[in-house]
Amino acid sequence: MGEPRIVIVGAGMSGLCMGVLLKRAGLRDFTVYEKGGSAGGTWRDNTYPGLTCDVPSRFYQFTFAPNPGWTRLYSPGAEIRAYLDRVADAHGLREHIVFGAEVTGAEHRAGRWHVAVAGPGGAATADEADFLVTATGVLHHPRLPEIPGLDSFAGPCFHSARWDHSADPRGRRVAVVGTGSTGVQITTALAGTAGRLLLFQRTAQWILPTPNRRYGRLTRAAHRALPRLDRLGYRWYEFLISAVLSRALVRDGWQRRLIGRLVRRNLAKVRDPDLRRRLTPPDEPMCKRLIASDGFYDAVQRDDVDVVTSPIDHVEPRGIVTADGTLHEADVLVLATGFDAHAYVRPMTVTGPDGRTLEDAWADGPRAYRTVALPGFPNFFMLMGPHSPIGNYSLIAIAEAQAAYILGWIRRHRAGLVKTAAPTAEATDRFNDALRRALPRTIWTSGCASWYLGRDGLPELWPWTPRAHARMLREPALRDFETT
Ligand code: NAP
Repeated sequence: MGEPRIVIVGAGMSGLCMGVLLKRAGLRDFTVYEKGGSAGGTWRDNTYPGLTCDVPSRFYQFTFAPNPGWTRLYSPGAEIRAYLDRVADAHGLREHIVFGAEVTGAEHRAGRWHVAVAGPGGAATADEADFLVTATGVLHHPRLPEIPGLDSFAGPCFHSARWDHSADPRGRRVAVVGTGSTGVQITTALAGTAGRLLLFQRTAQWILPTPNRRYGRLTRAAHRALPRLDRLGYRWYEFLISAVLSRALVRDGWQRRLIGRLVRRNLAKVRDPDLRRRLTPPDEPMCKRLIASDGFYDAVQRDDVDVVTSPIDHVEPRGIVTADGTLHEADVLVLATGFDAHAYVRPMTVTGPDGRTLEDAWADGPRAYRTVALPGFPNFFMLMGPHSPIGNYSLIAIAEAQAAYILGWIRRHRAGLVKTAAPTAEATDRFNDALRRALPRTIWTSGCASWYLGRDGLPELWPWTPRAHARMLREPALRDFETT
């Protein structure tokens, strides 16, 4: 059948991963469309002070691109972005990436994907491919809070993923709204730099203490000289996170109790009983995504940091007014209010051969076949699709497993075994029924609001261990597919 042509949407971590796997398999006919001006996805968009990955660096890297040069146990965002750029260069991906090009739609007609692209430079172009692979990320579209008067704020006001580096926080009054992973990292980084820091907390969060050890020159040299050390490091953190944290999320047991004890003991470090009470979450540890931080409780106990727990009523030019009538004056307003995690591939429109769109298929919420494919959409595959195991695990490891699976189908096409493949509706329903039965056993349904939850109140997450996900994708279940 000849060499298949592949279009990948997005040059973030998972799009790059797919590109490298294609190259290593000897496939050359592919294009990665990236709407931004550079690669790196979330690590390009997020540049806020204190940005650090809370998955250990040794495990947050591609198995095919070990990096002995990590400077810390948990990498700063800029280091990860530089690493992804190096991966793109080292594997010759740049010649395949079109920057400033947004895929706006794709339609499957006469056995191929017809892809509409806006840009670069605003011009509309078209492409055709045998396979369409979306690598559009999960936490991509900033969610702005609906707070009355927000537009009237006199100073700089921006979302955490659109950091305004011209707004110097030094010595100024900075208000941070939100206490998710992002708000906690910003608060920890800006405490002591800002003249006064005001943290607006709607719901307190549990915090796992995670000291961020520096890797010295000797450690880096040892890892450079002995690649096996790096592989060992990868396996160790993979084992540790899978055996403890990932288990704790999906099953009751000693792992859950251990993490519960660690976060409660961490909270006990807060000396002032009133502040401790206000920082005590109303829900179970890990119901919301567990936050990892070493310095947050130290930061909020500083004299120049205030945790405001009275609900926000409105914003006025001088600052934020809370329900108790207090005006909290501020010079800079940071919205660490999270993302629309349920958009997935959209706003891009994807239309199958029978005219059904992704919007139609997902009218009741995003669903997939085994996190990667969709019935009625032949040769359409997703990286980080619905129900991927994204809670506190290395998304790089997940992307690798999914990309390897997708590559399996592309290889089948190259070998002339299939022209198109789409999972059957029955197999997809079976998979989703099993998911829905397992989801209530997870900690995410123990009674809290979080970005994990879909419209039906169930989390859009993987209810088993990440290992089970990798195992499921090792070989395709051919009987689950309709092929031509
Ligand atoms: P998030 O977890 O969704 O947190 C948003 C925060 O904003 C919450 O505290 C929320 O309060 C608050 N909020 C939203 N609307 C509000 C309003 N109208 N008024 C007051 N408060 C409001 O978002 P995030 O912190 O950006 O993190 C999102 C995800 O990104 C994380 O869960 C994680 O997966 C990822 N992340 C990862 C890292 C890492 O190190 N790997 C770092 C940063 C982010 P409620 O809790 O009351 O809703």
